[in-house]
Amino acid sequence: ERTANQIAAGEVVERPASVVKELVENSLDAGARRITVEVAGGGRELIQVVDDGCGMGPDDARLALERHATSKIASAEDLRRIRTLGFRGEALPSIASVSRLVLRTRPRDRLEGTCVRVEGGGPPEVEACGCPPGTAVEVRDLFYNTPARLKFLKTDATELGRITEVVGRLALASPGVVFRLRAGPAELLTTPGTGDLLATVHAVLGREVARALVPVEWEGGGVRVWGYAGLPQLVRAGRAHQLFFVNGRSVTDRVLRFAFEEAYRNAIPEGRHPVAVLFVAVDPEEVDVNVHPAKAEVRFRNERAVRAAVYQAVREALAAHAG
Ligand code: ADP
Ligand code: MG
Repeated sequence: ERTANQIAAGEVVERPASVVKELVENSLDAGARRITVEVAGGGRELIQVVDDGCGMGPDDARLALERHATSKIASAEDLRRIRTLGFRGEALPSIASVSRLVLRTRPRDRLEGTCVRVEGGGPPEVEACGCPPGTAVEVRDLFYNTPARLKFLKTDATELGRITEVVGRLALASPGVVFRLRAGPAELLTTPGTGDLLATVHAVLGREVARALVPVEWEGGGVRVWGYAGLPQLVRAGRAHQLFFVNGRSVTDRVLRFAFEEAYRNAIPEGRHPVAVLFVAVDPEEVDVNVHPAKAEVRFRNERAVRAAVYQAVREALAAHAG
């Protein structure tokens, strides 16, 4: 059981940023309006995610740390229809198998909270505790019992950079949620949570980027595209500022990237890349998001329609801006 969890951990938990992603996705699933992430030592020493979501009663809290107990997948058909973010029911047990994990949780309508502790995938210790409504998950000493994985991690600064990127993407995908990211005394990110996408872009990508964007809003052929595209004069050497979301999930996808950059053809210098915060919505049956649990790749059934939609959407947005 412990070994199975550690093997599963290899799939889900590659590095501190993947732990942050799983925990924050759970908070979003729980309907949180406010999510605070605190890390130390690039996430190796500490990752703490606190939310004001629905919380769990004592039974659910215990179950949450038992492998596959909570998987929402009932059939292969479900796999194709996944709409919620979480679906595998193995993130928490996997994380707990390679760290010292403490979960404190309380539903709003209960007086008492529950605290569950697991060390390196050992038996969960459950006790009643006082805590605010919502859930707080604390992950310490990540990979302390799997030295090979620990060795694979980069410097604290690099790991922190990846965490910041992951939280930024999640924040952009949920502008109605207040996100905070802190590393010790440093406030790395705070989003307003008002539902205003541009204000969230400002908080995540900075003023310079937020000021040089044009709004995109387009629909056709069963594809909706919206968000912001950078003006041609706002270019970057890399593609770190090209953020794409498909049905609410952050993805890295060459089809989207290529269609997007096509819309700027001849408008920007060779070797430079425009900025994007673009959302694509298609019928969930038209897209396969489940290529690999830790990676965010997608496969579109009708790739041509999606490509055409992104290209058109951005062309029209840029043309409208140019007048
Ligand atoms: P999954 O999200 O795939 O179901 P996880 O291991 O990530 O699996 O979480 C297990 C279960 O624990 C979830 O299905 C959910 O019921 C519960 N859970 C986890 N995190 C939270 C949270 N922050 N708030 C409320 N419930 C949670
Ligand atoms: Mg989950």
